[in-house]
Amino acid sequence: AVLVAVNDTVSEGTPLVRLALEDVDVAAPAREAAPEDDAAPTRKPASSDDVAPTAETVGDEVAATAAPTPASADADHAEVLVLGAGPGGYTAAFRAADLGKHVVLVERDPVLGGVCLNAGCIPSKVLLHLAEVIHETEGLAAAGVSFDAPRLDFAKIHAHVDRVVSRLNQGLAKLADQRGVRVLTGSGRFIGPNRVEVETESGSHALSFDAAIVAVGSRPATLPGMPDDPRVLDSTSALRVDPEARRLLVVGGGIIGLEMAAVYDALGAEVTVVELLPQLMPGTDPDLVRPLARSIARRYAGVHLETRVTGVEATDEGLLVHFEGGKAPDAAVYDRVLVAIGRVPNGDRIDLERAGVQVDERGFVPTDDRLRTNVPHIYAIGDVTGSPMLAHKATHEGAIAAESICGLPSAFDAAIPSVAYTDPEIAWVGLTEAEARERGLAVEKSVFPWVASGRALGIGRTEGSTKLLFDAESGRLRGAGIVGPSAGELIAEATLAIELGANAEDLALTIHPHPTLSETLGFAAQIAAGTITDLYLPKKRADS
Ligand code: FAD
Repeated sequence: AVLVAVNDTVSEGTPLVRLALEDVDVAAPAREAAPEDDAAPTRKPASSDDVAPTAETVGDEVAATAAPTPASADADHAEVLVLGAGPGGYTAAFRAADLGKHVVLVERDPVLGGVCLNAGCIPSKVLLHLAEVIHETEGLAAAGVSFDAPRLDFAKIHAHVDRVVSRLNQGLAKLADQRGVRVLTGSGRFIGPNRVEVETESGSHALSFDAAIVAVGSRPATLPGMPDDPRVLDSTSALRVDPEARRLLVVGGGIIGLEMAAVYDALGAEVTVVELLPQLMPGTDPDLVRPLARSIARRYAGVHLETRVTGVEATDEGLLVHFEGGKAPDAAVYDRVLVAIGRVPNGDRIDLERAGVQVDERGFVPTDDRLRTNVPHIYAIGDVTGSPMLAHKATHEGAIAAESICGLPSAFDAAIPSVAYTDPEIAWVGLTEAEARERGLAVEKSVFPWVASGRALGIGRTEGSTKLLFDAESGRLRGAGIVGPSAGELIAEATLAIELGANAEDLALTIHPHPTLSETLGFAAQIAAGTITDLYLPKKRADS
């Protein structure tokens, strides 16, 4: 195949022709997968002026180079090369393979799954489940059921977490294998617009590609001036809960910090949280955060807002931490300090400039709604493209990028739910109140307090609430926020309602099973529709 056309601009590293040996049989199972033409688009179509790439699309290198190649394509060439095998990368690789592409998935770790599976969502949620059960048993004392204090076997806890992660690792490896996705273990970086170099255990390998998807994720942000001491933890090392961490300081009151605080608290540590801003989980509507803030103010040794850590000294007794502002002491000693102040993208570590791809000053890779970078045959997805840094955003983007490369009219146009798996859980989707205010959008808010829910009362969790925000003009649901146990599960209904353009009546007339917490969504919608009977709200009566 001749890979360039008359008048194309080429540079060092641009492949000009591809040669295949006819007697080499490397038929990939992926090629037997459903042909592209049969694959129905599953994402929202791109707008009509942003059509799928065609051979005619000016400057669209994908079209020029991504034509299906014969099954005998050489081993050092990928039709689609995916760099990074986190939730974004493996989804993109699998979707592209299912659409008939020859895919190479490059991952520096020996296992697939990225941060989410190996050092994020999954291990943290396994630990948070233990925390939740411990809390729940404590809460039963008032109902006349008491348990002895839990006996903790940390080696078994870690083995349990490892088993869950390893099962999922194996599942992903099998899924890659079943699709004929070639997994190359090594660290990749760009050496040209159509080439990467991968540093593997057996040496350096150059690979060429027609299209690439950058899915290299993010890493924990570090706090300048921290001592180089194993007692200073990040979100990865903190997942191996250490019984020696009797006094834990969590620096950063965001989702990751508060989730890990919940784990350590349940497993017996005395926890202090310090946050620079005036609110925990900055950016989240304050009414949703309040029940959590109240709960942890009672449980934890300290929650210090508007407080800065100015220095940490390693001493024999522990880590001596100095504070400034807020109501924190000037200094205090902790056994462990967890730095959870956010994550930084890995876009600055893979020589993207050698491929001509723009990276912003923070390391994020800007993309359009089809996840294309400024170089049209190179896509970027997941944490490396920006906030929110969430696994389900990465997977959704991964599928869109793969479909886009394969000529399907997919584009990103979806509401992204967020969940803090704290106790109580906090979840929200779509527009927040703060955002509506900032953007001057007129919304009608309705809030159902869980104190009026039979189910919430039955499980002893009346601190929750369910909030819906409807567009004042169209009446459609624009956003939702829920605080309370299982908020992360409940938010899915609101997410679907937003996707379907539902209004208050649609939700109010949906029969929710009784008694469940899901009813609170129906009740909140009935408040907006003026049909609520489970509360008495004179102003909202249908005939008023
Ligand atoms: P990543 O998962 O970061 O994967 C990137 C992959 O690229 C990694 O495997 C990395 O090794 C690889 N890579 C990087 N550079 C190279 C290179 N040069 N060559 C080859 N490979 C490379 N999100 C949720 O939605 N829900 C949660 O409950 C949740 N909990 C979390 C808890 C914690 C403690 C943390 C830290 C994160 C959590 N997240 C959660 C966030 C979630 O993990 C990320 O949003 C998600 O993993 C991003 O996926 P990704 O595919 O963009 O990148």
